[in-house]
Amino acid sequence: MECWHCERTAHATCRFCGRAVCKAHVQKMPFIIHTYRTTTDEYKAIVVADAVYCGECDPKKDPVLLQNME
Ligand SMILES: [Zn+2]
Ligand SMILES: [Zn+2]
Repeated sequence: MECWHCERTAHATCRFCGRAVCKAHVQKMPFIIHTYRTTTDEYKAIVVADAVYCGECDPKKDPVLLQNME
């Protein structure tokens, strides 16, 4: 597969949209693996701090329900 930006050989795939990116164009973005509510009614999330991100897509659209969390 080739990089979305420059068409060189890709080294990673965006965790959010699946575009391929090379080492020069890869970016990092926190990625929420899983969210849950504890027995004390707190919302918690398991997050990867530096997941691969292509720089093109808009990952904010995905975790919709987070807006209502305290
Ligand atoms: Zn590239
Ligand atoms: Zn992407």
